[in-house]
Amino acid sequence: MARIVQKYGGTSVGDVERIKKVAERIKFNRDEGNEIVVVVSARAGVTNELIARAKAVTPHPSEREMDMLLSIGEQETIALVAMALHGLGVPAVSYTGGQAGIFTDKVHTRAKIQAINPASIEKDLKAGKVVIVAGFQGVNAEGQITTLGRGGSDLTAIALAAPLKADKCEIYTDVDGVYTADPRVVKTAKKLTEISYDEMLELASSGSKVMQSRSVEFAKKFGVVFEVRSSFNYNPGTIVKEEVAYMEKVVVRGVAVDKDQAKVIVSNILDKPGSAAKVFRALADASIIVDMIVQNVGRNGIANLTFTVPQTDTHKAQKALEPVLDEVGGGQLAIHEGIAKLSVVGVGMKTHSGVAATLFQALADANVNIELITTSEIKISVVIDQAHAETAARAAHAAFQLDQL
Ligand code: ADP
Ligand code: ASP
Ligand code: MG
Repeated sequence: MARIVQKYGGTSVGDVERIKKVAERIKFNRDEGNEIVVVVSARAGVTNELIARAKAVTPHPSEREMDMLLSIGEQETIALVAMALHGLGVPAVSYTGGQAGIFTDKVHTRAKIQAINPASIEKDLKAGKVVIVAGFQGVNAEGQITTLGRGGSDLTAIALAAPLKADKCEIYTDVDGVYTADPRVVKTAKKLTEISYDEMLELASSGSKVMQSRSVEFAKKFGVVFEVRSSFNYNPGTIVKEEVAYMEKVVVRGVAVDKDQAKVIVSNILDKPGSAAKVFRALADASIIVDMIVQNVGRNGIANLTFTVPQTDTHKAQKALEPVLDEVGGGQLAIHEGIAKLSVVGVGMKTHSGVAATLFQALADANVNIELITTSEIKISVVIDQAHAETAARAAHAAFQLDQL
C-alpha cells in the first residue's frame, strides 16, 4: 500500500466528462490498495474568467476580494470530483484549503504557506476515504481566504505531500510531462525522462507554465520527488528530483519563453550612490518582483536603469516609481509591454563553455534583436520583441539540438 498525492490541473477537470474520467483513475489507484489525496484546480479558463469579471467591475479590484472570488473556481471542482467518486461507490470528502489545514501568511493573491496541519486528512484516510483538497488556496491567521499565486494548485499538492509523507506525488496535466520546450510552441520538443529541481525551477520561473515555480522551490527544500504526467493517458511522465552527476552531460535541458513580463526604463537619473537603491526600494516596498536589471554606463552624471517586472504589476510599478523620480534627479519613466524573455536552461552550463555564443548566433541567424541579457550559473536569458518569441524559441531549440534528444 502506498500513499499518493495526485494533482489534477484545469484541463484535466475541464468538464463533466473529464471529471468522471479523473474519478475513474482515482478509483483505479485506490482499488490497488493505495491511500489517495487529490488536489484539484478550477476548470480550465474559470480563474481567467473570474479575473476578467472582476476587472470589468472595477479596474483595480481589492486583493482580499479577489481571493474571495478566485477561490470559488476550485470549490466547484472539489465538490464535483467528490460527487463523481460517490457515483462510483468510493467514499470521498472534499475540503477547501482552510479545511484541509493549509495556513498562509496575510498576503492576498500570492500568499505563502506557513504551516500545514494534516490531522483531518489523516483521519479521513484512516477511515478509508479519498480526500479531495481545493488547490491554490489557504486561510490566514485571521480566518481570511488567501490564494497562492497563479498555478498555485501545484504548490498545494507538493506542500501536502511533505507532511503527509506521501510515497508518490503525481502532477497530472494535459501534456505527457516536461518537454525541452513548450510543445505547443516548438512542435519538435521532446519529453524529458527526468530533470533536476534546479533546472525545473529555472524553466518554471522563466515562463514554462507546466509547473508553478514556487511549488518547485518547495519540492527542492523538502526533497519531494514528483512526477509530471498526463491525465489523458497512462504513459510514464517526467520525474523531477535532486541533480545527479550524469545530468551535467547535457548542456541545455530546455528552452522557456515568458510573455508576461514588461520592460521598465527609468531614464535621466543622477549617476550617484543611492539612485538605484531608491528606485528598487520603492519597488520592493510595493512587493514587486524585479527580474532582469541593466544599468548603462553613466554619461555627464546621468544614467538609465532598465529592468523587467511582471506585466500584472506594471500599474503598481508606475504608482510606486512616480514619487521617486524627483528624488533621483527628475528621471523619466517608460513601460513597454510588448516584450518576451527567452531563456535556455541546463545544469551542464556549469561545466561547458560557448552556450552564450551559440544562443546569440542562433538569434542573429533568425534576425532577432537582443535588448537585455542576464545569466546565472545554469541559465541565459534575453529580452526580445514579443513578435519574435516563437521564432526565437524554435531557433534556440534547434541550435542546442534539443529536437534530436
Ligand atoms: P494545468 O492546468 O494542468 O496546471 P498548465 O496549463 O498550467 O496545466 O500547464 C501545462 C501546459 O504547460 C502545457 O499544456 C504546455 O503548453 C505548457 N508548457 C510550457 N512549457 C512546457 C514544457 N517545457 N513542457 C511541457 N509543457 C509546457
Ligand atoms: N486555478 C488557478 C489558476 O488558474 C490555480 C491552478 O490552476 O493551479 O491559476
Ligand atoms: Mg498549472
